[in-house]
Amino acid sequence: MVEPIKVLFLAAEADPLVKIGGLGDVAGSLPAALRALPEPVDVRLVLPLYPQIKKSGWDLTPVASFNIPHSRGPILAEVFQTLINGVTIYLVSGAPVSESPAVYSGDPSQDGTKFTFFSLAAMELAKIIDWQPDILHAHDWHAAPAVYNLRLIRKSDNFFRNTKSLLTVHNLPYLGYDTGPALGAFGLPRAHMSPLPDWAEHLPLPLGLLTADKINTVSPCYAKEMLTEEFGANLKGFLGTRKDDISGILNGLDMQSWDPATDPQLAVNYSAETLNKRKENKKKLLNELNLDPDLGKPLFAMINRLDHQKGVDLVPEALRLVHDLEWQAVILGTGDPSLEDAARRLDQEFPQVRTVLRYDGGLARRIYAGSDLILIPSRYEPCGLTQMIAMRYGCVPLARATGGLKDTIIDYLFGKAGQSTGFLFEESTSQALADTIRRAIMVYKDQRRWQGLQRRGMRKDFSWERSAKKYLELYQELVEGDTGD
Ligand code: ADP
Repeated sequence: MVEPIKVLFLAAEADPLVKIGGLGDVAGSLPAALRALPEPVDVRLVLPLYPQIKKSGWDLTPVASFNIPHSRGPILAEVFQTLINGVTIYLVSGAPVSESPAVYSGDPSQDGTKFTFFSLAAMELAKIIDWQPDILHAHDWHAAPAVYNLRLIRKSDNFFRNTKSLLTVHNLPYLGYDTGPALGAFGLPRAHMSPLPDWAEHLPLPLGLLTADKINTVSPCYAKEMLTEEFGANLKGFLGTRKDDISGILNGLDMQSWDPATDPQLAVNYSAETLNKRKENKKKLLNELNLDPDLGKPLFAMINRLDHQKGVDLVPEALRLVHDLEWQAVILGTGDPSLEDAARRLDQEFPQVRTVLRYDGGLARRIYAGSDLILIPSRYEPCGLTQMIAMRYGCVPLARATGGLKDTIIDYLFGKAGQSTGFLFEESTSQALADTIRRAIMVYKDQRRWQGLQRRGMRKDFSWERSAKKYLELYQELVEGDTGD
């Protein structure tokens, strides 16, 4: 029997232990999906043991304790273990983790120290428990110091000599700014004579990008966009030197948790086969939001972090541009105070708009099940979950043609209507958004065509199993390749 590939999987967050954003979804779902493959992968997840995890009563067993060298003296790391969905999870505690109040404190010195400590402790742990990984799979800047450290020690360290690294980028602009001194204090030097620009030579994500054996991001389209001036976070020239090692693998969706046929939050459950039942959810939602009960008016939704990345600022003007048409809208989000203000003002300006400024998972589900069209005008979108959830719930996505949105939505073109699942627009402007809303409303008037769009979206396979197979291929490629050191 062939030995399973061993993967040491490092991330700053993973559902259900700790989730702040999309990274938490990926690190929560992918390891279990990899273990469930016909050719299972022995993947072990490592996370920092944040105070909030400690408090929530998980069953944690002590595994090891050891010191990590630091310029101000060694720092004790204590590692605990738990098992969730068949995946072994190691949790690293120590002063840099327990002294930082939030997962991401926003303080570069605190976060830099915490995540460098975590990255180095994860590698040391593998040695102490004598579990030699074939792959070090690191996510985002928080785990990138491990990738860099692997490259520094691999030639001289027998234990890691055959370990390859994969760095997954979930959001390129988060490079780990101003954390260089924290890396240095743990003995990780600046790169020198490297193709990185000078300003990036002591930042964790660039160092990881420089030294990872392979790099991937969370959609094929974003993998190409990363190489351009517009999306390249000022690293275009450098990333060009690594382009042959960069690929894109679309994130999956937890198809069980997001299933309109079983979702307990919905007034009525439905599927692509019983789509007519869906309108009961729209009726209930309009009532809940105190909107006009007329089911014939298209109901637009936005469910988003209110952030410049998400293009939320394009929406007010776009809605003004389609004021002559009949529609209603609900906006659910939290975030940037100035964008929250703009959303509040929209509610006041238009009697047919409802703005809900809070995080509300249940309401989000009822909106996915009850609205007709979801607006996703993102400036960039490495993958995006919203459009996949919306499609699964028969809520048609209208999105900017970028990143994962472009990879998952097939635009309604009259010629190719038999495959389409939504609407896409190119230019990041209110006018382009408004023009596309107009186009969508025209199609909405023909309910037979509209239901075709809904059903095709609902039948798409966005399962994690699909993504996991692609990650396995990448791991196999790495295991079979040279280190190139
Ligand atoms: P990102 O990770 O960049 O914020 P994604 O599209 O990958 O964006 O994921 C966003 C997720 O968060 C979706 O599941 C969406 O439904 C959910 N979400 C965003 N804002 C809210 C909110 N205010 N209330 C409930 N769910 C929200």
